[in-house]
Amino acid sequence: MLTAIPATGLASKVEEIKKIAGTFPSQGTMPVLFLGHGSPMNALDDNQFVKGWKSVGLSLEKPKAILCISAHWETSGTFVTAMEKPRTIHDFGGFPQELFDVQYPAPGSPSLAGETVNLITKTKVGLDDQWGLDHGCWSLLKQIFPKADIPVIQLSLDRRQPAQFHYDLAKELVSLRTEGVLIIGSGNLVHNLRLVAWEKIDYPEYGFDWALEADAMMKKLILADDHRQLINYPSLGKSVELAVPTPEHYLPLLYVLALKEADEQVTIFNDKAVMGSLTMTSVKIG
Ligand code: ZN
Repeated sequence: MLTAIPATGLASKVEEIKKIAGTFPSQGTMPVLFLGHGSPMNALDDNQFVKGWKSVGLSLEKPKAILCISAHWETSGTFVTAMEKPRTIHDFGGFPQELFDVQYPAPGSPSLAGETVNLITKTKVGLDDQWGLDHGCWSLLKQIFPKADIPVIQLSLDRRQPAQFHYDLAKELVSLRTEGVLIIGSGNLVHNLRLVAWEKIDYPEYGFDWALEADAMMKKLILADDHRQLINYPSLGKSVELAVPTPEHYLPLLYVLALKEADEQVTIFNDKAVMGSLTMTSVKIG
């Protein structure tokens, strides 16, 4: 159940953080990341993908805050988490107890939530005080920023909206990049759980031909800045149809691409398939 937080005092909080932010020297523009998250066990494992996340984390200046768009928070309407202390949500089943024991006690940021609401004009964004941090967000952050000392908010995916809506909405967040906010889209380019090759679960890499084909096609379009075709992904053919059976793991990519400035560098990493029907392909912009 989502409930709205009264907006009382929010405007003054936003003013407050703007004043504080103004006292720091400009950090320049923060890169934007799309991270393929794969299995929740990546929160605890030390594999090639986790190493990829960590090395990208080390290449960044310490963010002032993090805004995460996770595949695992879909809502009717768009919401941002606005609580002071987001809970760690264990939104999965069938994993070892040690994964359920993981906590990621990063603070929230009601002020950044308020600023995000003010930036987005495309739709009315609600303030949420019920969600928290789902595993799409904390399984990555636990590895990249283990101290959990950077405030984190999540922005939900409006499940009723088409791809173009998400891309356009994301563009309105661009000014956060110059305020030291790290924006992370968390999903998977190729993500078809129905077709997982369970017998290959312990293999470090394994991809079906169609999964590798879809991933290669998407990478090529990402590097060519062909966002138009990526937004119109249902027209990319059979392999992409299999790769994106439902949109939620793909849409966070569009948020990240929308935030790219014309002359910015795009780096692809972790571009390997696992369990046949998932790819861990990740993108750094800037
Ligand atoms: Zn996922």
